[in-house]
Amino acid sequence: MTPAFEELTKRLRKLPGLGYRSAERIALHLLVEQPDALPALVDALEAAAARVRRCACCGNLADAERCEICADATRDPAVICAVEHVPDLVAFERSGSYRGSYHVLHGRLSPIRGVGPSDLNIATLLARIDAGGVREVILALSNDVEGEATCHFLSDQLASRGVQITRIGFGLPSGGGVLYADAVTLKSALDGRRTYQ
Ligand SMILES: [Zn+2]
Repeated sequence: MTPAFEELTKRLRKLPGLGYRSAERIALHLLVEQPDALPALVDALEAAAARVRRCACCGNLADAERCEICADATRDPAVICAVEHVPDLVAFERSGSYRGSYHVLHGRLSPIRGVGPSDLNIATLLARIDAGGVREVILALSNDVEGEATCHFLSDQLASRGVQITRIGFGLPSGGGVLYADAVTLKSALDGRRTYQ
């Protein structure tokens, strides 16, 4: 194998879910089997790297300072649904059952993995609430130990700020959370949300 091929394989291996064999297979596919598709992929990577960023308000992916959801005047800014990751937000959007706004934490608290509050997108959530106009924060986090710990922390931070704190109802699969739930389950999880603590 050539040094450039090795370098590409090494980079691909750092992507989530790819082991050595998968990375090697993708590198071979790009360079040998489908080399015509490579320039378009390089262009897409460059364009995404140049344009895509975190929304300054909610942490969603955005092409501008604010994402399309935050910029949408038909969405209710008084209700914020806090999710762990962008794909959770996408799952809610796909279900079509939610018209409020979001806040993407980009993870959850985990002392074991060394993830503390300052590693998550929490300060901007508190700033949004302190800016006023928020009535309810819906905690749509996993129902496992780390999700629970994150809910407790957020609820402690939010309690003195005068917003209603709710948590989505779980018919959601344990450990799978929002991401793997279908539209009907997500809707009933939202409808069945309860006051937290
Ligand atoms: Zn946003």
